[in-house]
Amino acid sequence: MPSIEIRDLSFSYTDSPEGKKALDSVSLSIEDGEFLCVIGASGCGKSTLLRVLAGLEAPKSGKVFVGETEINGPGSERMIVFQDYALFPWMTAKKNISFAVRRARKVSKTEAENIAEDFLTKVNMDKSALLYPCQMSGGMKQRVAIARALAMDTDILLLDEPFGALDAKTRGQLQDLLLGLWLNDGKKKKTVVFVTHDITEAVLLADHVVYMTPARIKDELYIDLPRPRIEDESFQEYRERLLSLFEEGKEEKMNYEK
Ligand code: ADP
Ligand code: MG
Repeated sequence: MPSIEIRDLSFSYTDSPEGKKALDSVSLSIEDGEFLCVIGASGCGKSTLLRVLAGLEAPKSGKVFVGETEINGPGSERMIVFQDYALFPWMTAKKNISFAVRRARKVSKTEAENIAEDFLTKVNMDKSALLYPCQMSGGMKQRVAIARALAMDTDILLLDEPFGALDAKTRGQLQDLLLGLWLNDGKKKKTVVFVTHDITEAVLLADHVVYMTPARIKDELYIDLPRPRIEDESFQEYRERLLSLFEEGKEEKMNYEK
């Protein structure tokens, strides 16, 4: 059974010009435990798709199922992480996590604090547990945001260009970290939907890549490479294939915008 099933989903923002859809008849199956990357140029609807999956926007038409349940709002089995971290500025790193854990899981205050400490250690932030967001770099804030999302222990993680604002080195570290946590010591993997416009990032992370052109899914590709992945010849072949999709898509985007 797929973890997420999107059937003929269309969506328009209320203030968009008449007839302009942000999503137009999108259908997609995401398997349980799959790492899916959504790629595509800016403005093609990646964030909108994620927001609908998160239940923050309601479909205009079509349906989204999580397991067998049609979703009609946010749910405790799904968690979204935005590019801009969205930490509470008045809470320390540890408090940001323990607060979210207590809202998401039935645990005591002490248990939530222990879980927070555990996940801060996993993202190498244990020594910074008592810092406030204004005292952290972008990479540190994103570590906390990821630790928070994973600590909430939802089955589905929705990540919208989470590493987009980071320098290359920090991005590489956080990619490794996210993969390690997703692999989950051989236990049940989470289903991840990860939006990026970075092709290399998609080949590095994904089992399954969907390529979007404005409002539509243009193509899908499964990446059958062993992990941990290295940038060898087969890696480059996948990159080339995704790059050529981007080139084809550019033309379509120009026609769409005419
Ligand atoms: P992406 O994440 O791929 O860059 P988005 O999903 O953000 O794309 O945007 C898809 C389309 O919807 C774009 O044309 C964008 O301008 C429009 N859009 C996005 N957010 C809003 C909004 N809040 N109100 C109106 N239009 C929006
Ligand atoms: Mg976006």
